[in-house]
Amino acid sequence: MPGLSVYQIYQRLFRTYGPQHWWPGETPFEIMIGAVLTQNTSWSNVERALANLKQHGALADDVILAMPHKRLAHLLTPVGYFNVKATRLKNFCRWHRQHASLAALRKTGTHELRRMLLSINGVGPETADDMLLYAFDRPVFVIDAYTRRLFTRLGYLGGDEGYETLRRWFETKLTRVNDKVGVFNEYHALIVHHAKYYCRSKPRCAECCLKNHCNYYSSVKDVTKRKNSTTKSMK
Ligand code: SF4
Repeated sequence: MPGLSVYQIYQRLFRTYGPQHWWPGETPFEIMIGAVLTQNTSWSNVERALANLKQHGALADDVILAMPHKRLAHLLTPVGYFNVKATRLKNFCRWHRQHASLAALRKTGTHELRRMLLSINGVGPETADDMLLYAFDRPVFVIDAYTRRLFTRLGYLGGDEGYETLRRWFETKLTRVNDKVGVFNEYHALIVHHAKYYCRSKPRCAECCLKNHCNYYSSVKDVTKRKNSTTKSMK
């Protein structure tokens, strides 16, 4: 088991990379639209799709709902799966419109709001939690594939735990943190940054700020050492 607590890992990442200024988006509505569009695609593609929507004055629920499906799908081309995403975006906008104003949703308890978001066709746990944390400032820890990969390699997880198990695990580990929303916001963004640039599918361990506390790195180091000593003894 690695030596650092989950909070100490956060501190290490924060000291190394600094604040990430997430979530990029000018309004809670734009943040939520971005959360729907970012499924299975990179953020740079989402930015291009959001720019298309803005350029056509379509960053509003009523405009998106009134737009023919084909036209909306065309504007969403950069994010891939644009037909599916056009349908999901309309589902989300229908829900958003039914609930009249974000002000009313802001008064809804986190558990209930999460349940409501999950009832939208096309909004899964990660998307709902992105919205809760970044658009509604709720203390909900977002789990994504990067989080799972990093903490499995570090040695904290088996890797096949369910979404809810992991979310609760992180929230319990960080239960004593003051300003949970601020820390959860920054932590998720830092994990994404770390996984994109260092803990990639082929990791760059030699440059990693967590390497001295990582099971994956120690096992790779041990194998390399064994290989080197076998090679030497054969010389
Ligand atoms: S040492 Fe390697 S595997 Fe471990 S966290 Fe860093 S990049 Fe990932």
